[in-house]
Amino acid sequence: MTSRIRNLTGVLGILALGILIGLYFRGEWGSESLPIAKAQTTNSSSENDGAVERYSPVKSRDRDFYAPNSEDLKPDEMRLIACGTGMPTARPKQAASCWLLELGNGDKFLFDIGTGSNERVSALQIPYNFLDKVFLSHLHTDHFGDLDALFVGGALAGRQKPLRVWGPSGDTPERGTKYALDHLRKALTWDLDGRKGLTDPRGYFLEVNEFDYRGKNQVVYQENGVTIRSWPAIHSLDGPVSYSVEWNGLKFVFGGDTFPNKWYDEYAQNADLAIHESFIAVPDMITKFKFTPQSALDVGTQIHTAPEAFGKVMSRIKPRMAVAYHFFNDFDTSHAIYEGIRETYDGPLSLAQDYMVWNITKDDIRVRLVAFDEAVWPPPATEKPQLPDPSERIPYSDEISGGRLDVKDVIQPIYDKINKQYGINEKQED
Ligand SMILES: [Zn+2]
Ligand SMILES: [Zn+2]
Repeated sequence: MTSRIRNLTGVLGILALGILIGLYFRGEWGSESLPIAKAQTTNSSSENDGAVERYSPVKSRDRDFYAPNSEDLKPDEMRLIACGTGMPTARPKQAASCWLLELGNGDKFLFDIGTGSNERVSALQIPYNFLDKVFLSHLHTDHFGDLDALFVGGALAGRQKPLRVWGPSGDTPERGTKYALDHLRKALTWDLDGRKGLTDPRGYFLEVNEFDYRGKNQVVYQENGVTIRSWPAIHSLDGPVSYSVEWNGLKFVFGGDTFPNKWYDEYAQNADLAIHESFIAVPDMITKFKFTPQSALDVGTQIHTAPEAFGKVMSRIKPRMAVAYHFFNDFDTSHAIYEGIRETYDGPLSLAQDYMVWNITKDDIRVRLVAFDEAVWPPPATEKPQLPDPSERIPYSDEISGGRLDVKDVIQPIYDKINKQYGINEKQED
């Protein structure tokens, strides 16, 4: 059933892409330009009333969606892409928390890598060598559950260097990022041992940078003109943090999961774009999520941030764009969240969904969705691969290798063909 639904979603995704591409190519209208009425604005002068813009039959128009690997990032521009906006139980429509921030200086940062989000990252066609920095807000699996997928899958697909991860300490060493990732790597012992001697080995290392979760607006990263700071978030246990990124006069804030708190209120001020959680409205938690009324009130308003409280936070810090996430964004749930937020906040607002894109400059914030290819292949490696050392391979036991059937006769023609085509002289294993 699940795979049938996923297939259906895939078909719908391809259909949607097809329709978008179809609309895009319909820009070639034929032999004459059709006049398109300009969008009405409240301040248009009288001589412009009724003006039309003529579009070319041979030149493309601006896209109203974002196609990966098709737009240069301007030197003064930030691009943010939502790779996960939902809940701990990932679903085809929404993976769990993950945000890719790309800067015009070439830097890219992932904030969280929650369950299911690595698939969204892959849709963006970014070489994995450029995706080597991850900042974790806290250690709930909906915020780091796909780290193993990015770590191993990214190394396999062209990250030729260690994956660098920043994350908070806990109130005990066992609740900190370093403990979690040391043990994650131990859990991957069989996986990593099995790749020795077979692939470029350089990507299979984790560099863990654990910092004090109690630091108030402390600098946790400063390279290449980019400053990233953290401060405590209030959520579940001691340990979670929020982050800000300052670069080139622009400021991005990622709250992670948190109850409204005095540190976000102070340090998220002057944000160009500020992300803060906003949970599902309590009535929908009861009827759709099957919470008891008691636990819906507790989880939806005390552990997490209710929409009305999100609005209060944003009306105090007044960002150029407020982004709400951490809810199932559906036709029958988003209205209650929107109404709740609008009780307390009337500024610019995005109710996040997966594949939402924000292009941020000092003059403009443009919001679109990604149109992507479901059958995407990994992008090219940006550097020459380092050949593995075959002597590092761990052999099968005699008992297991003794079970191999002899298929050399049908494999040999493949070797002959590839050896000839690429001028090499590889031989089958004995
Ligand atoms: Zn959490
Ligand atoms: Zn969460």
